[in-house]
This record gives sequence, C-alpha cells and structure tokens, in this order.
Amino acid sequence: MPEPSSDESMLYRRLGRSGLRLSVFSLGSWLTFHEQFDVRAAREMMAAARDRGVNFFDNAEGYANGESEAVMGRALRELGWARVDYVVSSKYFWGLEGGGTRVNTRNTLNRKYLMQAVDASLRRSGLDYIDLIYCHRPDPHTPIEETVWAMSDLIRQGKALYWGTSEWSADEIRAAWNVAERHHLHKPVVEQPQYNLFHRRRVEQEYRRVIEDLGIGLTVWSPLAGGLLSGKYRDGAPPGSRGALSATAFLREGLLDAQRNQAVATLGDIAAELGCSIAQLAIAWTAWRGQVSSVILGASSRQQLEHNLDALDVLRRLDAATVARVEALTEALAR
Ligand code: NDP
Repeated sequence: MPEPSSDESMLYRRLGRSGLRLSVFSLGSWLTFHEQFDVRAAREMMAAARDRGVNFFDNAEGYANGESEAVMGRALRELGWARVDYVVSSKYFWGLEGGGTRVNTRNTLNRKYLMQAVDASLRRSGLDYIDLIYCHRPDPHTPIEETVWAMSDLIRQGKALYWGTSEWSADEIRAAWNVAERHHLHKPVVEQPQYNLFHRRRVEQEYRRVIEDLGIGLTVWSPLAGGLLSGKYRDGAPPGSRGALSATAFLREGLLDAQRNQAVATLGDIAAELGCSIAQLAIAWTAWRGQVSSVILGASSRQQLEHNLDALDVLRRLDAATVARVEALTEALAR
C-alpha cells in the first residue's frame, strides 16, 4: 500500500511500490491546454496548483495533437521551477494527426514508434526528460516483449524515469511485468485508469492483485466523469461546458444521461452534511482508497481548480460510513 505523508496543504502518496511521491491531487491537461488555455493561462493554472502543493502534471502526446506538451513545456520554462520539484508525464499510442504515413506512427506500441515519439515529446516540451511515460492503450499487434524492451531502454537512455500503462487489463500488466522481471528490465510501476463513482470495477476488483503482488501504483483520470459528477448537467449542458462544446460532442450523451444525473443529485444531502459541493465529495471519494496514488483533476478555470483542490479537506473528514452511503446511492449505475 502506498505510504502516505502530508503537509498542511497537500497529501503525498507513493506511486505504488516505487519511491516516487505524488500529490494526491494532480492537474491534467486534456481538452484544456492549448484548446482552452494559452501559455499564460496554463502557467497561471500550474502556478495555482503548485501553490496548493500539486507536484504532478499529466500530459500526453495526443492532447491537442502535441500542442498540449508544447504549452506545458513553455509554461514550465517561464515558471522556472527547479526540475526536482515537479513530475511531468506523457503517454503514447495513437500518434499524431498528419504525422507520417500512419504505418508505424499510429495506434502502435512498436519500438520504432515509441523511440521517435518520446524524442518528439522532448523536442516539443523542451524538457530533458519526462518523469513518467505511459503506454496510453494496449497494442494487440506488437509483442509485449518489444514494448517492454523499448520502454525500459527509454529509461536507460535517460529520456524517462518511470514507465507504466493506461487502460491495460490486469493480465496485460502482469505479462509486461513478467517480461521485465525475466530480463532484468525496468518494470512498469503505474497504471492510469478511469476511476470515479460510475467507473469502479477495474480499480477496485480487476487490479487488486497487480496492486498487491506487483506494487503497481494508480494515477486515476476523470474523477468527475468529465464534469457529470459536479451536478451541472441535471438540466442540460450549461453554455461553454464540455457537454456543450462541439469539439467534445462525443461526450455529450454520457454527460446528459438522465439516470446518472438523478443519482448525482441524490448525493446533495451528504455533500450538505459535509459542508461541501457534490463535485468535492465525488473527488474526495476518488482519493479515499489508498491504492490510488494520485487523482488527476481536470479544470477549465482557476476557480474550478481551487474548488476541486478544496476536496482535500473533505477527504480528511471522510469516514467509512459516509463512503458506504455515497457508494450505495450510485453503485447501481457503476461499472
Ligand atoms: P474530470 O472528470 O474531473 O472533468 C474535468 C472537467 O469537468 C473540467 O475540464 C470542467 O469542464 C469540469 N469541471 C471541473 N471541475 C468542475 C467543478 N468544480 N464544477 C463544475 N464543472 C467542473 O477530469 P478529466 O476528464 O478532465 O480528466 C482529468 C485528466 O485525466 C485529464 O486532463 C488527463 O490528464 C487525464 N486523462 C487521462 C486519460 C487516459 O486515457 N489516460 C483519459 C482522460 C483524461 P468544463 O468546465 O469545460 O465543463
């Protein structure tokens, strides 16, 4: 189990069995950096997060087709923080739009793609290395051995420090870990799954053994199920929200789902008892289980970010009885 430590403004947990400590709440850049934030706004969001103790900033090659990495890298240069003080990630699988002939550049984890993709991330972001690199999805067409060797070699080359997976099955994670064990390679230390009140099975059941046996840590995504768990989609999509934007039309149906929105509304009483919002309750719940190393927050404004980081206070006051009540209200719709 990750060993917690804390100061007043933030709680830090070990990334699984690795020695790396991450803030229990981190900041992600999907759909926001470059798309909603220019460099200045990104810098302000990162500075506000860091002022509250956030030390982990999540990114991916594919976010804004590479531009999210460029914006974050530029913001980091302008912020001038000591490199030892923050952790940055990136993820690889889908490749970039317009990036070559597609043969070895899209939907793959082959060695050729991974090597060139990490080099390109470093160039875009201006970083000397990336702390955490993830295989963004499994690739059924590349032998796991090839991917594990490539990820391990990227660490040996100093281009990354740790590697992991995102949305891999427990069997795939175990297979990768075993290859690394057999050949004395760097092992995967982290998985990045979706985890929120409507999406629980993988984290709570499927990954139980890889967490316990292999010491895999979890950095989890979409704690608000894209905003649904804030309660703001009860009467339709508010203007300017993720559910109203044409670029994210593919998310609208899920965000507007009537049954889920009704279930979210029922959380209001518990939130009121705790003196918090439904969003803060949902975020605090996501960090409740100790196997979650870091909850990656998304926020389209500084106000949302500050509000969501206040969930730390709710987390400190949560107890098992309240958690059971929260889960009872939503579990019929959870998978
Ligand atoms: P959330 O589920 O928390 O959704 C965040 C969005 O919800 C915000 O952008 C905002 O959208 C809305 N929101 C946030 N706070 C509030 C609030 N207090 N009240 C009302 N609305 C709010 O997280 P994301 O889906 O953004 O995921 C977080 C991060 O996880 C990403 O940035 C990325 O780094 C990572 N991720 C990883 C994936 C993977 O495959 N590994 C996949 C997806 C995400 P708006 O205001 O625009 O409506």
